[in-house]
Amino acid sequence: MVSLGCPKALVDSERILTKLRADGYAMSANYDGADVVLVNTCGFLDSAKEESLAAIGEAIAENGRVIVTGCMGNEAEAIRERFPDVLAVTGAHQYEAVVEAVHEAAPPTQGPFVDLVPQQDVKLTPRHYSYLKISEGCNHACAFCIIPQLRGKLASRRIDAVLREAEKLVAGGTKELLVISQDTSAYGVDVRHEERQWHGHAVRTHMTDLARELGQLRTPEGQAPWVRLHYVYPYPHVDAVIPLMAEGLLTPYLDIPFQHAAPSVLRAMKRPANEAKVLERLKNWREICPDIAIRSSFVVGFPGETEEDFQYLLDWLDEAQLDRVGAFRFEPVEGAAANTLADPVPEEVKEERYARIMEKTEAISAAKLSAKIGRTLPVIIDEVGEPDEDGDIGATGRSQADAPEIDGNVFLRDVRPDLQAGAIVDVEIEDADAHDLFGVIA
Ligand code: SF4
Repeated sequence: MVSLGCPKALVDSERILTKLRADGYAMSANYDGADVVLVNTCGFLDSAKEESLAAIGEAIAENGRVIVTGCMGNEAEAIRERFPDVLAVTGAHQYEAVVEAVHEAAPPTQGPFVDLVPQQDVKLTPRHYSYLKISEGCNHACAFCIIPQLRGKLASRRIDAVLREAEKLVAGGTKELLVISQDTSAYGVDVRHEERQWHGHAVRTHMTDLARELGQLRTPEGQAPWVRLHYVYPYPHVDAVIPLMAEGLLTPYLDIPFQHAAPSVLRAMKRPANEAKVLERLKNWREICPDIAIRSSFVVGFPGETEEDFQYLLDWLDEAQLDRVGAFRFEPVEGAAANTLADPVPEEVKEERYARIMEKTEAISAAKLSAKIGRTLPVIIDEVGEPDEDGDIGATGRSQADAPEIDGNVFLRDVRPDLQAGAIVDVEIEDADAHDLFGVIA
């Protein structure tokens, strides 16, 4: 399995592999040992499409028996034209079709014991953290985005099914749950926030109820798992989850893409244009939960963006003081409404603005991280190193302000040899740079 794209695609890959394993298939670590190669593609941006096509090309060259799925699977003709030897192409989220294509390409051989052994789901993330996908699709129409075309309208999963999956993951060793979807704060809108029974009480299909229930879960050791909310669209009702963070039911972390701050640009993007209110809300959230860490993402170089608009965004970032920021250069991906907008921003101007926003957000991050020196913070361990020539062992972890793969790390020195990945330890912070923290177990 070659799994490209976002965490939602990763969960799709996990689901496909779990089904195939139940059918008796094993995973190969490389092309040579594989009877068939699955490429789960990303079609969000042109650069992502290029990466997907390159991955298909490599799989064909290295193995030759290739099945393509994922968001770029929607362009089956273009893929077949370029790679006529592809065995099958399916769209995103079409697990059954992928499994069927694998059965055809490499018919399953039922071993004597396969069916008897109940198996844990296949996970492509380390054992101690898991993505929890709560819905598919999106009802918005942001001008730069084609995800609604690729993944369809919002379809929320039943809350009792989501909670059962979370419970199973935590019982199986997950210490950190990452709640993902295209639009996490719209969870349940499509089913009018219907109620379902969960452990003898009714719960609404709603982000706040979900967060509260996830906060009740306990690991086999009796600890509350860390629970992070990702892809949270900035609706007013998001305010309701902040007190859950202050109560310790939810990790004080929010991934909330704002995309820009200049009202004219936000309107052109078809995004909520109330950035002044957002600053006020951020201030309130920090009063309720002082340790809250806010991650956001921004698009620079959107058609029509003027130097004034961009300076407005930089000034807004000074006020917002966000902990983690991802920035993207606008790309006119095929099918996006923004492609027809006037006044495209020249590439060199886009590059220059990208460099300025990264410089700005790096300076803010450096100041915020150095303010943590001297504090003791809970850290989840991702990796424990080998002893160095002096026998000292280092480890890499993350604080509650760091989601895996997108945020920073906490680098530890002199850890005990029996320290395990997944352990949550208190760390005294000794130093910081623009992205990471450094410390020792308290
Ligand atoms: S909310 Fe996100 S997924 Fe939905 S259209 Fe906007 S950018 Fe795309």
